[in-house]
Amino acid sequence: MSISKQQVIELSQQIGIDKIGFTTADNFEYLRAGLEAQKAAGHTSGFEHPNLDERLNPALTFDHPKSIIAIALAYPSRMKESPVRTNLKRGQFARASWGIDYHQILREKMTSLIKQLKGLDETARFKPMVDTGELVDVAVANRAGLGFIGKNGLLITKEYGSFVYLGEMITNLEFEADTPIPCQCGDCTRCIDACPVRALLGNGKMNAQRCLSYQTQTKGLMSDFARKKTRNVIYGCDICQLVCPFNQGKDFHLHKEMTPDPDKVRPELLPILSLSNHDFKAGFGQMAGSWRGKKPLQRNAIIALANLNDRSAIPKLREVMDGDVRPVIRATAAYALGRLAKPGDEEILGDLQSAYQKERTEKSDALILHDYQVAINAVQRQKNS
Ligand code: SF4
Repeated sequence: MSISKQQVIELSQQIGIDKIGFTTADNFEYLRAGLEAQKAAGHTSGFEHPNLDERLNPALTFDHPKSIIAIALAYPSRMKESPVRTNLKRGQFARASWGIDYHQILREKMTSLIKQLKGLDETARFKPMVDTGELVDVAVANRAGLGFIGKNGLLITKEYGSFVYLGEMITNLEFEADTPIPCQCGDCTRCIDACPVRALLGNGKMNAQRCLSYQTQTKGLMSDFARKKTRNVIYGCDICQLVCPFNQGKDFHLHKEMTPDPDKVRPELLPILSLSNHDFKAGFGQMAGSWRGKKPLQRNAIIALANLNDRSAIPKLREVMDGDVRPVIRATAAYALGRLAKPGDEEILGDLQSAYQKERTEKSDALILHDYQVAINAVQRQKNS
């Protein structure tokens, strides 16, 4: 039995999919030159699917594809409750990490839709994907008419702005394609101007290596240019979304799984430094922001403590610098101590100097040593001033 587009739309609404669109399974070759140039310029994050041909051609990963169904789920942009008041400084997760991991939510929605469609036509085949799949999510969603691609590179929908999660499924079912929506940014450059690390290049492209969201997800030392700019954010970045005129007033709470727990998405920073693997999994394991593991979040929490000038963290940071087994975490603690130390902190200076000597003896790499040197210089300068 053939399935009509209207049937798919109605089923998607029953399942709780907020927006759905359809496009052909034709290739996306028109993206090739831009993606190659981005890679050649060193502007990719490395999180992309590695095979460019597969990213551009649905037929390489799916036998005889006919259409692609694109879906969007709206996520909240404001919290209804505040975290409990305590004496500890708090960090924050970007909105795309509120609630349980959106990959899981989108997968469940698509699985449910596929099940129902297969019930109508047992010959129907689907390949669902979210974020880490072969295809370029925003390009598919744009071609399927869900919204336009803004100068910040995000898909912007009429109803929900860019506060949407995207997923898509390649299928052997044939549907009439929807119409792609051209960019509606006009003369606006708010996101480009607001990005504190100039990651947006102005032509709709970005240097993903500079993006603060990427910087919070690396596993080594965070780049120096990004450390102060992340403020108290320990995962992701929302700046280019918050300034966008198409997002003003957009705040949808349509899915209970996306409801943020204020104490988790604005977590106390200091306890993050002592988290066991078990506590990390229990506390943060369900969030999208935990996908890179505990270490980047701990590193970012240390940087946030320095950015918030939280001197109450000094004893813990000294302990971390002295005893943590991970060089990146020790060096980041040294960096934070260098920023938090005040004139008269001879003890911290002594700690930094002996930790530096230890790193040299252990032949730690130059970037690690650099953080100690900068911190020592900073405390010495303060002492002499
Ligand atoms: Fe486009 Fe302005 Fe939104 Fe950036 S802030 S995506 S330029 S409308």
